[in-house]
Amino acid sequence: MFKELQLPFVELPKSAEELRAEVRDFIKEELASKSFAPQCDSWLGGFDPEFSLKLGKRGWLGMTFPKKYGGHERTALERFVVTEELLAAGAPVAAHWIADRQTGPLLLKFGSEEQKQKYLPKYANGEWFVAIGLSEPNSGSDLASVSTKAERIDGGWRINGSKIWTSGAHRAHQIIVFCRTEPRTEDRRAGFSQIIVDLSTPGVTVRPIRLMNGEHHFNEVIFEDVEVPDYMVIGTTGNGWKQVMADLAFERSGPERFLSTFPLFKEFIRIVGESRDKSVHVAIGNLTTRLWTLRHMSLGVAGLLEKGQSPEIAAALVKDLGTQFEKDVTETIRLLVSIIPSETSDSRFEVLMAEAILHAPGFTLRGGATEILRGIIARGLGVR
Ligand SMILES: Cc1cc2nc3c(=O)[nH]c(=O)nc-3n(C[C@H](O)[C@H](O)[C@H](O)COP(=O)(O)OP(=O)(O)OC[C@H]3O[C@@H](n4cnc5c(N)ncnc54)[C@H](O)[C@@H]3O)c2cc1C
Repeated sequence: MFKELQLPFVELPKSAEELRAEVRDFIKEELASKSFAPQCDSWLGGFDPEFSLKLGKRGWLGMTFPKKYGGHERTALERFVVTEELLAAGAPVAAHWIADRQTGPLLLKFGSEEQKQKYLPKYANGEWFVAIGLSEPNSGSDLASVSTKAERIDGGWRINGSKIWTSGAHRAHQIIVFCRTEPRTEDRRAGFSQIIVDLSTPGVTVRPIRLMNGEHHFNEVIFEDVEVPDYMVIGTTGNGWKQVMADLAFERSGPERFLSTFPLFKEFIRIVGESRDKSVHVAIGNLTTRLWTLRHMSLGVAGLLEKGQSPEIAAALVKDLGTQFEKDVTETIRLLVSIIPSETSDSRFEVLMAEAILHAPGFTLRGGATEILRGIIARGLGVR
């Protein structure tokens, strides 16, 4: 029997639209003062701690956190509006992205009182950055094969192993390490935990893995007898799998999963605005209708979050369709306009095109590869 996917239709409240106007004014000012230039995939490549601090001061980070932890007790829909405006503008939001998007909600759900008091205000201020330590040289899609290990020592844990493709670890303050804390049993998913590791702890080595254009985004993070105190374990020891799945739902559901190439799309429309070429009009029409549908689906996920429901299946669906869309934007425009993409060009369009082409291969991999997401969706709908 097939199950239905419940994705509510969400209309934004007046307060969210008022907030949108505020964010647009802020972006206009920032663009006028040349504080940033619009960038494709700015939530991965636009690392600007000063910009994060500015957002923190305006109350646009940690928006849904309780006030007692430095948050603003605003709704998931209001947060949606702020993030979609920043992404659409190609603003440099990478520094705080992980802390604000998923580590904060993770600690709110599973963290200890001490962890919440210590870290959430720093996330909300935009002064503390986090890396995700899931993938390993031999474990990507098959997360249950992770072999980084933490063993019990007096008053804490000793970690050994390595993580790979770790976004921003060279600039982050801490990493959330998904590791084995109990020996492997028949249940491959049992015995994992999530541990917060300060990246300055002795025994942690961060090595760059450069993109083909030389950009330093990824890292390999190696743990050699890294000792952490007990209070750095998030939630319950051994409950890591369940926690990480909740974490991934936050990671997959947001507007960043279809807006990474929006700055390119916008610039394309500006440039070809007067074109009489029918194929250009058709392409813009097709992409816009898909974008609008995705936006409503993603808003539906924000609506589920607002109600405190788990958006796991819907998030996987939005991520799958959204990242295909981001790639299609790049490919459609590349085939319609004859330019030489270049990151050093004086033309913003050529720069955006270059960024989109270079980053596109990662869209459908990061946060869960296409085939894996489709498996989750199929299981969730009862067709597998
Ligand atoms: C831009 C970017 C940023 C990233 N940032 C981080 C980060 O910060 N932290 C982190 O931990 N990781 C990060 N990753 C890693 C990412 O999570 C992994 O790349 C992803 O989970 C896939 O794992 P893999 O690369 O090992 O590929 P594999 O798991 O080897 O998969 C390779 C291909 O095989 C397919 N495949 C695998 N298993 C199956 C199956 N059972 N059935 C059908 N097809 C299958 C996959 O869909 C994929 O197409 C990042 C990746 C990218 C591209």
